[in-house]
Amino acid sequence: MNTKKFLISPNKKINLSKIRTDETLGISSKKDSVKLLKKNVEQMRELQAKVYAQDKYSLLIIFQAMDAAGKDGTIKHVMSGLNPQGTQVFSFKQPSKEELDHGYLWRINKALPERGRIGIFNRSHYEEVLVVRVHDLVKYQKIPDKFNNKKIWKQRYQQINDFEKYLNENGIVVIKFFLHVSKEEQKERFIKRIEDPAKNWKFSMGDIEERKYWDDYQKAYQESIAATSKKHAPWYVIPADKKWFMRLAVSEIVVKEMKKLKPEFPKLSKKQLSELEEARKKIIDDSALNERDT
Ligand code: ATP
Ligand code: MG
Repeated sequence: MNTKKFLISPNKKINLSKIRTDETLGISSKKDSVKLLKKNVEQMRELQAKVYAQDKYSLLIIFQAMDAAGKDGTIKHVMSGLNPQGTQVFSFKQPSKEELDHGYLWRINKALPERGRIGIFNRSHYEEVLVVRVHDLVKYQKIPDKFNNKKIWKQRYQQINDFEKYLNENGIVVIKFFLHVSKEEQKERFIKRIEDPAKNWKFSMGDIEERKYWDDYQKAYQESIAATSKKHAPWYVIPADKKWFMRLAVSEIVVKEMKKLKPEFPKLSKKQLSELEEARKKIIDDSALNERDT
């Protein structure tokens, strides 16, 4: 699959309204897509085992999207086959009082994946240039006046770029997904959430309020994505109207990125191998002794 189509080139303006939300790259059925997803999950599992054993790199996969675009489902389906010990998922909500008493990357830093792990962010530091911008929430953040001015968004893009470069140079591979759903599809999904009792719990009145700010969000997203898609931390805009395709596309990209790391199980030195051999003999000898004693 040519996932390059979804990659946002660095330093390029984008217009989200011109990027299709219903693309499926010629894959026409959900059935085919599910099969391919299964294969990718299998590959991810094998790669993950090596990344874990190698204990050098980690992956940070960031999901951002409008409500009901399918972040939760994508995380569930794409990460389903992985070893839970090697994965960590964090969902970022409105910051607590304690979090507001620190810079906005404080809580992000605490949630970064350990070496060898795959970390997933359901929302992220990008909320700081999205919801915070759309709803003018900086006033709650106690930023010194001299830094709280019109330039703050550009400053934050720069801070985020610097931060993600630092992550990259310390072994954290950052991949960012914007799940791009259409306003019409969001409406359909909200209606389903209201009409289907099994989905009621997913609906919140706040979602309808936020929908009123659709255009402001799209603007904030496109500016943020354009300013922060870098070679060391690329953004992918994934068409999200067809959930099955979205999940497949995300899995393709994650597999590709993991393969790039060429993870291998650590090779033991001659000395370590001979120590292992000694350990093997010892275990056999000891158990032989024990058997004789009993
Ligand atoms: P769900 O699919 O369950 O609705 P969700 O990610 O929308 O998942 P919610 O609890 O509904 O979870 O919403 C979390 C809210 O927290 C979002 O509205 C988001 O914009 C907000 N939020 C996250 N980070 C920040 C932040 N740094 N400042 C202000 N609001 C934030
Ligand atoms: Mg929500």
